[in-house]
Amino acid sequence: MKNIAILGSTGSIGTQTLEVVRANKDLKVEGISAGHNIELLEKQVREFAPRLAAVWEEKAARDLAVRIQDTDTKVVWGMEGLLELARIPSVDIVVTAIVGMIGIRPTIEAICAGKDIALANKETLVTAGHLIMPLSREKGVSILPVDSEHSAIFQALNGEERKEVHKLIITASGGPFRGKTREELSKATLSDTLKHPNWVMGQKITVDSATLVNKGLEVMEARWLFEMDLAHIQVLVQPQSVIHSMVEFKDGGIMAQLGTPDMRLPIQYALYYPHRKYLEGERLDFEKLGQITFEKPDTETFLGLPMAIEAAKKGGTMPTVFNAANERAVRKFLRQEIGFLDIYEIIGQSMARHTAKENPDLEQILAVEEETYQWIESRW
Ligand code: NDP
Repeated sequence: MKNIAILGSTGSIGTQTLEVVRANKDLKVEGISAGHNIELLEKQVREFAPRLAAVWEEKAARDLAVRIQDTDTKVVWGMEGLLELARIPSVDIVVTAIVGMIGIRPTIEAICAGKDIALANKETLVTAGHLIMPLSREKGVSILPVDSEHSAIFQALNGEERKEVHKLIITASGGPFRGKTREELSKATLSDTLKHPNWVMGQKITVDSATLVNKGLEVMEARWLFEMDLAHIQVLVQPQSVIHSMVEFKDGGIMAQLGTPDMRLPIQYALYYPHRKYLEGERLDFEKLGQITFEKPDTETFLGLPMAIEAAKKGGTMPTVFNAANERAVRKFLRQEIGFLDIYEIIGQSMARHTAKENPDLEQILAVEEETYQWIESRW
């Protein structure tokens, strides 16, 4: 039996993790959490009977406690609640399926408590990879990628020597606006942006896919996870989303991981690593697929990727500014307060005014995040 806790069980990754649990009798959910969606959290409590349910807002937590007073699940709230969830003694692995930088502290807490991490929350590594990776080595815990691209690389590296890797090739669908001009992007609506061609995901990452910010975040995530320098990470558009990423070795050999776009596979792989289990669902049918095509990403139009690379090269606190500015800009875009191209404007201006501090500790990272939010709020 493997005991798991899920930070963000009501979201896209969280609910798909619970689908994997539902299909496997040897997984037990000990902790779940949500921002505010207590209707779904109540259903999850009743189905999975976890020890702990964490809710971000205190009022929503109190409402949930009343709703589930006939159960044995304890309700906690706020950051303290997330931290308690992250260190439940009986838990073996914590799935970080929460969105945004709010995931950093619970992830660190879980690592310090000796839990393995099934990492979906890429913002954590983007902003604090230099703290998290050494800490995980010190505590002897595994960081198992859930992001499909990183899971693909992780699978391709199985049994290989890291020092024999020449290059990581991260694939990208190109998002809903692939092939569009800047002029066309200036008129992009929220509903157009949320129509991803291949994947069904949470709203924030769907917008990030359209801007190519997501690909930039993935490059930064890969850099920490696989200890690879930026010059050896390539992004390649592969619009059918069947090659989830590839590794090129020193001898020119390339290993790729393919499959239908289904997040349950990388989630299940992380939960059972190094074993594979049967997964119900559609299989990749090459005859039906016909062809797999490749393109260079359009970094003149989609500035999310080059801006992310710039932030990664500057390093220190700059990736935090990139990420925090994007989080706030996407929130404004989802509320329809700004246009699509304003997301780039907000990130670009936030980075331009910031002087990166090298090797920041957690408090400095969180302070830069807060300062970036405040500056953006004072301007937009
Ligand atoms: P969703 O928006 O679908 O879900 C986010 C989860 O986080 C929800 O459970 C939400 O609760 C919870 N949450 C949000 N704010 C807070 C808060 N302040 N306190 C506590 N919980 C909170 O996101 P996704 O599942 O799409 O993405 C989650 C993470 O996984 C992101 O970092 C994303 O980049 C990454 N990822 C996602 C992929 C995907 O296919 N979706 C693929 C690869 C990576 P509530 O429901 O109450 O709002």
